[in-house]
Amino acid sequence: MRFEHETLAQRVCFAPGEAAVAVRAEAKRLGGSRVMVIAATAEADLAEKVTAELPVVLRHEEVVMHVPVASAERARTAAAAHDVDLLVSIGGGSTTGLAKAVALTSGLPIVAVPTTYAGSEATSVWGLTEEARKTTGVDARVLPRAIVYDATLTLSLPVPMSVASGLNALAHCVDSLWAPRTDPVDQTLAGEGIRALATGLPAVASAPAGLEGREQVLYGAYLSALAFSSAGSGLHHKICHVLGGAYDLPHAQTHAVVLPYVLAFNAPAAPDAERRIAHSLGAPSALEGLQRLRHAVDAPKALRDHGFQEADIDDAVQAILEVVPASNPRPVTPNALRQLLRAAWQGADPLTLSGEES
Ligand code: NAD
Repeated sequence: MRFEHETLAQRVCFAPGEAAVAVRAEAKRLGGSRVMVIAATAEADLAEKVTAELPVVLRHEEVVMHVPVASAERARTAAAAHDVDLLVSIGGGSTTGLAKAVALTSGLPIVAVPTTYAGSEATSVWGLTEEARKTTGVDARVLPRAIVYDATLTLSLPVPMSVASGLNALAHCVDSLWAPRTDPVDQTLAGEGIRALATGLPAVASAPAGLEGREQVLYGAYLSALAFSSAGSGLHHKICHVLGGAYDLPHAQTHAVVLPYVLAFNAPAAPDAERRIAHSLGAPSALEGLQRLRHAVDAPKALRDHGFQEADIDDAVQAILEVVPASNPRPVTPNALRQLLRAAWQGADPLTLSGEES
C-alpha cells in the first residue's frame, strides 16, 4: 500500500442550535476585531442571529451563484475599504465561494457557517466565473480556518433544495472513489459519507422539521467534501463543472441529475467502488441503491427540467472531452459522452448506459 494523503488544517465544530456561541469562540480564537459578514439577502436574518455579538463592520449581501468575477471584485473592494480582519460566511456554497474569492486575494481568514450541504467549506478549492467560463483553482488561503455546523440553520432549506444539495454531497463521495488522487482514506470517508447521507436524506424528505436527518446529512456532507478535496475531480465533477459554467445550470440539481448516469457508466469498470457504494447503501448493487434512494426522496430527474437544451449537447460533449481525467476507469469516447448527456437531458433510465460501449 503506497499513497500520499494531505489532511487539511481546519477546526470543525458540530454545534446544533449553538452556532452563535461557536462562531463567537472561533472569531475570538482568530483575533477577529473587524468582521465582514457575508450572507445573501435571503439568509440575512439567519446571519444576524448568528453574528449579533460579533464586532461586525460590514454586512455584505450581494451573493451570486458560481461567483462572477465582477461580484467578487465588489466584495474585495468593500472588505479593503472597511479594513476587515475576519470573514464570516453564512449560507450555501455560493456564499462560501464569495468569501473564498475575497480570501484568495487578501489572505483574510474565514469562519464558514454552511446552511446547505454543498461542502465548499471543507475544501481549498475556489471558483470564479467570467463570460460563461468557470475557472477553479486550489489555494490554501481560501480554506476556511474554522467551520461551524449547526443543523438547525438548515431547517429552513426547502425539501427539494435539501434533496438536491444532499445528492450533490453524495456525488462528492461517489466521484472521489475513482477521482485522479483517490486513496484508501478518501474511500473510507466516502463510504461513511454515503451511509450518513443515505440515512439522513429520506428522514429530511419525510420529516423536514426534524433535526436528526439534517444532522446526518450535514455530517455526510462534511465527509463528502473531505474525500472530494483530497481525491480531486472525477468524471462526474468535470461534467457538472462544464454544464454549470457554460449553461448556468443550478449547481446542486445538476449534480443530482447527472450522478446516476456517471455511476451507470463507470460502475462496470470500477468493481471496488461499485461494491463500496452498494455496501454503504445497503443494496445489492450501487445503481440500484442510488435509484432507490433517489426515488424515496423524489430526486431531480432530467437536465431539461433545469435549463439545459438538447441543442447544446454536442458543444458540451466537446468541452467535457477536453477535461475528462485520464484515470477514469472507463474510456470516455465522444459517442459515450453524447449518450450519457442525452440520457441525463431526457431523464432516461441510466441502466441503458451500463452495457459495453457502442
Ligand atoms: P447556493 O449557495 O447557491 O444556495 C442555493 C439556494 O438556497 C439559494 O437561493 C440560497 O439563498 C438558498 N439557501 C441557502 N441556505 C438556505 C437555508 N438554510 N434556508 C433557505 N434557503 C437557503 O447553492 P449550493 O448548492 O449550496 O452551492 C452552489 C455553489 O457552491 C456553486 O457555485 C458551486 O460551484 C459551489 N461549490 C463549491 C465547492 C468547492 O469546493 N469550492 C463545493 C461545492 C459547491
